[in-house]
Amino acid sequence: MIKLAFLLSHALIFPNQQDIYLEVVGKPASAQKQIFYAPHESEFVGNTYVADKVKKQGGAFIIMRQQGTRNVTLHIKEQQKTTQVYVDPNRLFTIAGIASSIKKLNPKLKLNSSTARKAIKRAFKLGKFVLAQLNQAKQPITWVAMHNNTEGFAGDHQHGRGDVSIYRYKSKLGKGENFLIDVNIADFHDEDNLFYVTEPIDFHMMRKYHWNVVLQNPIVTTDPKEDDGSLSVYAQMHHIRYINIEAERQDKNLGENSTKAQQEMVDFIYYLTSKNYF
Ligand SMILES: [Zn+2]
Repeated sequence: MIKLAFLLSHALIFPNQQDIYLEVVGKPASAQKQIFYAPHESEFVGNTYVADKVKKQGGAFIIMRQQGTRNVTLHIKEQQKTTQVYVDPNRLFTIAGIASSIKKLNPKLKLNSSTARKAIKRAFKLGKFVLAQLNQAKQPITWVAMHNNTEGFAGDHQHGRGDVSIYRYKSKLGKGENFLIDVNIADFHDEDNLFYVTEPIDFHMMRKYHWNVVLQNPIVTTDPKEDDGSLSVYAQMHHIRYINIEAERQDKNLGENSTKAQQEMVDFIYYLTSKNYF
């Protein structure tokens, strides 16, 4: 069933599996500066604000929709049997990324089985379906991803959950992990409210304005070990400016919704993309 959250939006149904659709606010083809994309349906703290902003100031906002959960469920039919295969909607953009997401989320499924092969193909088509919208603009624009994460991070010794925190990124950088090249910590912001960017100039501007920010290492475009199929990797492979806005959400009585902080981050992106650095 198609359910739309925002006035004046419309649904684009994925032709290969009709319970998956994109909710589209605004007109991707007439976007001048940025298109927003929210892949994880369970992360919606900033969505209303972005939808309103797009209606007032232009651009577009694309939201993956199926059943309200983080992951997408693919229904793969073989003879009489239908298998549910889960995939992360932010890992749809390269075959390597899709395969590793499917492997992780469906531990019992053999990757070389015909079910898995069909699932990988369908996931790749779903990725193309999203990219077709993101690529509608007639000039180079910025892709802005909207995400929410949970309080702290697992293993922070403070009962944190999940794996996103500016402190965790800093520690990954310190350990020599390859996918990131710089981290700025702005202490008065919550550790979970952070930008993740591909362009050094955005990193420098965000540091100048005292935001938490992570700069992705361009090595992700050439090192197969770093290809996780995410939109940040795909964007950098294709020389598209990418900014991810991460903010905390409440998760089963832990943490809080960083609604105001994420709104300020969205405003900052409008400010940055009005500057024409490129
Ligand atoms: Zn997310």
